[in-house]
Amino acid sequence: MRFLGTRPLLSATDLMRFTGCAHSSRLDLARARGEDGPEPGAGSADAALLQAKGDAHEAAHLAKIKARGAQVIEIARGDLQADADATRAALAQGADVVFQGAFLSGRWGGWSDFLERVERPSALGAFSYEVADTKLKGSAQPKHVLQLVLYSDLLAEVQGLAPDFAHVELGTGERVTLRLDEYRHYARAARARLEAFVADPPPTRPIPCADCALCRWSDHCAGVWQAEDSLFNVANITRTQVKKLEAAGIATLADLA
Ligand code: SF4
Repeated sequence: MRFLGTRPLLSATDLMRFTGCAHSSRLDLARARGEDGPEPGAGSADAALLQAKGDAHEAAHLAKIKARGAQVIEIARGDLQADADATRAALAQGADVVFQGAFLSGRWGGWSDFLERVERPSALGAFSYEVADTKLKGSAQPKHVLQLVLYSDLLAEVQGLAPDFAHVELGTGERVTLRLDEYRHYARAARARLEAFVADPPPTRPIPCADCALCRWSDHCAGVWQAEDSLFNVANITRTQVKKLEAAGIATLADLA
């Protein structure tokens, strides 16, 4: 999350983080605003390994596309506005694939993985594009859908046509195709929730979830749980159990004891 002047600029990563843990978005927002607060961690070794594997999967897919003789235009990642302009120009040329195409519109922007030409007429000409992302997972996840719909909506603004489909190149080598009409409402509602959150952030608190292991705020949150003598320090306790205990006036480990 960052600001362009006074305007927040949101990305697919921001959206995926928000759907996993609103507290991480609150911390990201405070940092982007330059407010006093905790510093994010450098990231765990697991996160770095996952990133490296993801990059390798993406590079292997790019090599596969090139090996079959497709014309690929690569956008060298730098300034987002300049890259978005370069992407518009690349799409207008009608290349088979645009790699790392960038988008910037209103509050949303970022770099996609692959934009693939399809022979469906649009404002670009007798062709248009669909989004394809590489993901290490063995199946398409809800978070992937959020990202694919975001880029597809931004792509629609450029080509004057909403793509029908988007694709995930999985770590298993399988390609999953999603019919975007089935996911647009869900993904746009999630974007609207994040926009509202950023405009008027409600109080949040750290609650352990599946994202904690790879979260850059994990050291900070662990410190909060420790300092608060939090019930979340109880091994395997659920958030529902904590909620019930807190409602009964038991808010700390000391209370519980
Ligand atoms: S460590 Fe967990 S609770 Fe804390 S911000 Fe990250 S995901 Fe949320």
